[in-house]
Amino acid sequence: MSVTQQQVLDSLAKVMSPRGVALTNANVLSAITVTDGKVFFSINVDAAEARAWESVRAQAENAVRAIPGVSVAMIALTAERKAGAAAPPPRSAGGVAPASTHRHPPQGGAGSPMARQAEIPGISAVIAVASGKGGVGKSTTALNLALGLRDLGLRVGLLDADIYGPSVPRLTGIREKPQLNDDKKMIPLNRFGLAIMSIGFLVEEDTAMIWRGPMVMSAITQMLRDVAWGTLDVLVVDMPPGTGDAQLTLAQNVPLKGAVIISTPQDLSLIDARRGLAMFKKVNVPVLGIVENMSYFQCPHCGTRSDIFGHGGARHEAERLGVPFLGEIPLHIAIRTSSDSGNPVVESEPDGPHAAIYREIGAKVRQQLQGVIAAA
Ligand code: ADP
Repeated sequence: MSVTQQQVLDSLAKVMSPRGVALTNANVLSAITVTDGKVFFSINVDAAEARAWESVRAQAENAVRAIPGVSVAMIALTAERKAGAAAPPPRSAGGVAPASTHRHPPQGGAGSPMARQAEIPGISAVIAVASGKGGVGKSTTALNLALGLRDLGLRVGLLDADIYGPSVPRLTGIREKPQLNDDKKMIPLNRFGLAIMSIGFLVEEDTAMIWRGPMVMSAITQMLRDVAWGTLDVLVVDMPPGTGDAQLTLAQNVPLKGAVIISTPQDLSLIDARRGLAMFKKVNVPVLGIVENMSYFQCPHCGTRSDIFGHGGARHEAERLGVPFLGEIPLHIAIRTSSDSGNPVVESEPDGPHAAIYREIGAKVRQQLQGVIAAA
């Protein structure tokens, strides 16, 4: 029998809010989405009260999960800071961090180690793959880089945190939904030897698109912590494109060991990449380097290379800014067709030149993470 919204409301009516009334009467619930036993909604409160509400969020989640037929309950606590109000104290490990919708750094002060979330047990290094804007090949690079790292003998996971437009289901061809283990944690899908999780496995792309800014952080925190990742050397996080508040909050709250920035050679993309660098610097996440994607055009027939975008811009920019340059990936039809058919090029042409490039980039990333991975 399918789960109804009324069942969800009935279960929430039994949860008391800190305001002394039932959660359903506290005027804090967003619209409730129920699809195929998966329940999503947010509890929207003032940031100053966020701490008191965290246990209510957890109780609400347990209540919803107890409804027969519910497979996933993702309940976000979203907190807005009132103008002029003091920042709330940072949350401790686990659960959901309140996210600000305002145009200043998230609570705790940018870069403050206090504001950072705790490490994720079993994962040695979480790294972000980011870009200043969409369409530069960030997701394609994130997946192929993850495969390159796998080829180097590492245990690798991929979290598609691009909640506005999750593309990992398309890039990997995964159509299944994650199952729950006995602890009610989601089991990541395994494809190409990678542990993979994407919000796109849970909701239709259109649904993901309408998520409000503050919910992004909460949903991603849950995908980081409520997923049974197992033991991983590296978890690659495919970030939402851009350098807005959601990305800044993410960069600060996900326990990142480093970030890889993807740019194309064009000036405009480089300006955006610079913003990305500045964003990670602000929150003290080391930039592992810049990758120039669609660096030059490589003819699929004769192999001739044409620098149609004035290639090399990202390398110069990296040198200028004093961050490592990780490599150049050509604009090549094989990269596009393999990605778009769910069989990425490192997997489909492991002995080809493109796979070699991604592995070289992977090797440079691994080198920089050596200390953390080896320590684990
Ligand atoms: P983003 O995550 O930055 O939005 P995607 O990874 O989805 O970008 O890539 C956008 C499009 O560009 C996709 O169709 C992808 O297959 C294609 N693409 C990405 N990198 C390359 C490349 N090096 N050569 C050819 N096509 C590419």
